[in-house]
Amino acid sequence: MHPALAKTIADVDPEIAELITSEEKRQRDSIRLIASENYVSGAVLAATGSVLTNKYSEGYPGKRYYEGQQYIDKVEQLCVDRAKSLFGVDHANPQPYSGSPANLAVYFAFLKPGDTVMGMALPAGGHLTHGWNVSITGSYFKSVQYGVRRDTHRVDMDEVRELARKERPKLMYCGGTAIPRTIDFAAFGEIAKEVGAMLCADIAHIAGLVAAGAHPSPVSVADVVSTTTHKTLRGPRGGMLMCKADHAKAIDRAVFPGLQGGPHNHTTAGIAVALREAATADFKTYAHQIVANAKALAAALVERGFTLITGGTDNHLILVDLTSKNVSGKIAAKALDASGIELNYNSVPFDTRKPFDPSGIRIGTPAVTSRGMKEAEMRQIAAWMDQVVSAPSDAALHAKIAGEVRELCAKFPAPGILV
Ligand SMILES: *Cc1c(COP(=O)(O)O)cnc(C)c1O
Repeated sequence: MHPALAKTIADVDPEIAELITSEEKRQRDSIRLIASENYVSGAVLAATGSVLTNKYSEGYPGKRYYEGQQYIDKVEQLCVDRAKSLFGVDHANPQPYSGSPANLAVYFAFLKPGDTVMGMALPAGGHLTHGWNVSITGSYFKSVQYGVRRDTHRVDMDEVRELARKERPKLMYCGGTAIPRTIDFAAFGEIAKEVGAMLCADIAHIAGLVAAGAHPSPVSVADVVSTTTHKTLRGPRGGMLMCKADHAKAIDRAVFPGLQGGPHNHTTAGIAVALREAATADFKTYAHQIVANAKALAAALVERGFTLITGGTDNHLILVDLTSKNVSGKIAAKALDASGIELNYNSVPFDTRKPFDPSGIRIGTPAVTSRGMKEAEMRQIAAWMDQVVSAPSDAALHAKIAGEVRELCAKFPAPGILV
């Protein structure tokens, strides 16, 4: 933590200060492979911790309900302009508090309760907010869900087309949280057009890759593009909606006053900083290295006998089925955490185990790539993972590997962490 900031928090609230410092050390000393996480820059952290948190500004730049917006308006406008230029969109709204409210605003903009939404099923790799039954999006709307093929574990566009023709959804979602392969936005666009549905491409996981040209962009085919700002895009926790000019009003109204009150201006500033960073040549190199690292890690895991869903990856994410290693996802994830390697257990398509103790683990390379790790480190990580997964109850081995992990991490300073 920045020494001045650390001192301030420690003076006022030593308990919280100590916990923040401990978390900072944990992030510094471990290999973070959670596919949705990253390390933001010191500049993004500072913007997020600024006095902009003190200000109310319901409305949009130039049309606010509170006075004193001289600087806030400029911050939000810069953020919007940078998003428009980076993603090549007509309109951007950076006010959604996070990815889930961003998606809910899309429903509110275009659907009435009971209308039909079509999205990828959660167990196949979709997100809760794409119409899964426990989510408000699956209970206030009629939801039809597509999955992946049993033989290839990839989305079957013929199945999607057939289902869309039969169910005539008003809104279609593509994108997800555990998809290791390129999303065929053009095919989704064609199907949505054919059945008269709005298409929302949710690029929460891959926004940074899209911005850098390391994954195709949905902008020309999707009516709305929804994203978080804190995953591969490497900004603060937040959400953003982007759309064609004809949907701008509907989207803005749905976010405010439809769903939210005042925007989180400190977050908007952090997003603006992240978008500026994402427009640099360095970020382009970073995003392509994320993919190169994921491919290297995938290849090293396959070499060590791991089974990967779809056999590999096109992006930042790898989904591993541990059935062949005779260990459950949860046991493996806990043993790896004890070894300084942090990831999450995850269902695999057609999983025969329960979601709370599924067959798989999910891995992503955005955070380790932010530390400057490359292919050689990915091979080392695969070797450690193999050792731990082969001995999930060997606490001495886990402690030894955690020490080795710390040594490697010391050579790759994490952005935003000074300790
Ligand atoms: C992470 C994610 C979200 C939700 O984001 P939160 O900020 O956690 O609400 C929505 N959609 C997809 C595809 C995601 O991966």
